Amino acid sequence: MFNITAKDEMYLRMQAMLRNVVPDVELRYKAELAAEIIRLKQEKNAVILGHNYMEPALFHSVPDFVGDSLELSRKAAETDKDIIVFCGVRFMAETAKILNPSKTVLLPSEKAGCSLAASITAADVRELRSRFPGVPVVSYVNTYAEVKAESDVCCTSSNAAAVVRSLDSPTVIFLPDEYLARNVARDTGKHIVFPSLAPGHEPSSELDYQLIGWHGRCEVHEKFTLQDVKGIRAQFPDVVILAHPECSPEVVEASDFSGSTTAMIRYVERTTAPRYLLLTECAMGDNIAAANPDKDMLRLCSVRCPHMNQITLEDTLEALRLGRYVIDVPEDVRLRAARAVTRMLAVGAQRGEDTSLD
Ligand code: SF4
Repeated sequence: MFNITAKDEMYLRMQAMLRNVVPDVELRYKAELAAEIIRLKQEKNAVILGHNYMEPALFHSVPDFVGDSLELSRKAAETDKDIIVFCGVRFMAETAKILNPSKTVLLPSEKAGCSLAASITAADVRELRSRFPGVPVVSYVNTYAEVKAESDVCCTSSNAAAVVRSLDSPTVIFLPDEYLARNVARDTGKHIVFPSLAPGHEPSSELDYQLIGWHGRCEVHEKFTLQDVKGIRAQFPDVVILAHPECSPEVVEASDFSGSTTAMIRYVERTTAPRYLLLTECAMGDNIAAANPDKDMLRLCSVRCPHMNQITLEDTLEALRLGRYVIDVPEDVRLRAARAVTRMLAVGAQRGEDTSLD
């Protein structure tokens, strides 16, 4: 009698989804890891959350929930499990901890940071407040807890313009992504300035600016250029190009659609085009291709997020085995950060809109 093991079952499940995306020899190895992760997850009463940028073999095997960081944080907030393993980057795991402080939150790699989140500190925000007294601060969720704690409200890539409008303030400080800020300025018709990093060189008070930006960039999305878009359209005239709002305004304008990761996934699912190209982390194209075998996805895989790619099945297994790396947020910081995140959720709820992240 032939006995099907958990490992075999996992391999068959992954093969059904990934046979056109991941070579079989790798699938067998990864299925073994995934089966052990699932066993440990049950033994330790854990839930695994997987961000849209995770590599296909992880994304389509071990997570209980997949999605953008806000969707995953909401799942984290609702869970009755003892441990939350966040397969994403540090600021996302922190947001889960901010929203659900009684749980143990684990991030499988200590190196899973983010260039945007690292571009600004709490001291930078305090200094901006002193340079522009009384001006409200909107922080993108791709920031660390200390920065959220200094902010009035957070925003996502899909509700940024709505959050700015909701403040009903003539001037708003918008941090830290330069390109998202420029895209929001275009959407809201506001003038934007980027103050010098050295205090004492303030923008002219004569200037009719309404948005004050910062100098942060996503090291993935800043790499896409207008030349890339033109070159791809010349080679594939029927391609539909989707750009994340962390891309430059020139790239966003030259694209057919711009939205958060979840908005891009929905767009591909709900439309029929000869082929698509996503200007975002390459793994997401693989994940959409696996889930929608009828859709033709082009990929620019020389552009990868080094932080998201730190999270592997091997690290996830070790995270569960060893209970590492624990994400903690000091309670005074957490309480202030929670206020900014909750205020953002209230703006999204009022509009009944998608509040997708990253
Ligand atoms: S893709 Fe960009 S914004 Fe997202 S984690 Fe990587 S560096 Fe940060």
